[in-house]
Amino acid sequence: MQDNQTKILITGGAGFIGSNLCDYFLSKGNHVVCLDNFATGHRYNIEHLLANDNFKLIEGDIRNLNDCIKATSNVDYVLHQAALGSVPRSIENPIITNDVNVSGFLNMLMASRDNGVKRFIFAASSSTYGDSQELPKKEDSIGKPLSPYAITKYVNELYADVFSKTYGLETIGLRYFNVFGRNQDPNGAYAAVIPKFVMQLMKKESPIINGDGNYSRDFTYIDNIIQVNELAMNTKDKTAINTVYNAAYGDSITLNDMVVLIKKYLSEFDPSIENVEIIYGPKRVGDIAHSLASIEKARTKLNYEPKYSFQLGLKEAVKWYWENLK
Ligand code: NAD
Repeated sequence: MQDNQTKILITGGAGFIGSNLCDYFLSKGNHVVCLDNFATGHRYNIEHLLANDNFKLIEGDIRNLNDCIKATSNVDYVLHQAALGSVPRSIENPIITNDVNVSGFLNMLMASRDNGVKRFIFAASSSTYGDSQELPKKEDSIGKPLSPYAITKYVNELYADVFSKTYGLETIGLRYFNVFGRNQDPNGAYAAVIPKFVMQLMKKESPIINGDGNYSRDFTYIDNIIQVNELAMNTKDKTAINTVYNAAYGDSITLNDMVVLIKKYLSEFDPSIENVEIIYGPKRVGDIAHSLASIEKARTKLNYEPKYSFQLGLKEAVKWYWENLK
């Protein structure tokens, strides 16, 4: 556990994963700084934290080096989450995705180096596995990227590696696999599949599955992601740093089975949701058929032990959407 004086910068702290990290690390008595430009994050995710003396919001942009320097001042650890997510967004606008995810990332590395940050932990992505067919995915074996987004996330790993070797900055990349849970935005063209489907089903609208629904994903509940961030921050094992880890549950479920479960859990609140039909649409460009992580490396090196199975997490998430967004 961190002592009370630890100061953590969470970039993208108003977003889905970032706001959960802000809540958690504040609840553990740390000082938390949130740097966000609200591009895809929301003030309502952090509104309840603004009165907390241990919380500081810096409204700024990682594309601006001065904002990054200001945000990393006197900071012990950086949990870098700020980025433009979504494969389709990056296919529609690769330039802005690259500016934020690559140039912004480099600014954050520079600022962290110059302000003497102890460790820089960053949100990497399972998209780095690209066209590799190997299952389960192991950290050392990646394929070719399938989207501009995937390129940016891979470049992040390369930059972090060079910064650790060249300047001695401690870094850890966490390759998140399809994270879901409270605060994940269900709205907008680039919404992730779980919150989007939950919201549609709550409104009794038919969700559209791209393809035949036999695609599978290693959907990972947010609390597992919080755990692996905390472990990455706290590890004293020098052989566990300057590397990347899969951050997942380590099991996969098809989209068809996922929808059945969402309907089942929502039916506990409104039984008529069980009757909403599912529609099948065309396959999406850049989508891979199956994704499943090996979590052995995080288990062995960081003592990661994910507590939430997909079912357990989904039940929590569905309840949260019902109670907060219905
Ligand atoms: P999100 O969109 O909810 O959060 C991203 C946050 O970054 C938002 O609050 C946004 O306003 C902020 N941001 C964007 N551009 C910025 C800029 N230029 N300057 C400052 N802040 C900026 O997304 P998320 O799902 O919470 O993702 C967090 C991180 O995890 C991202 O790096 C994403 O690529 C990565 N990731 C997420 C998943 C997932 O399943 N959600 C999977 C793999 C990787």
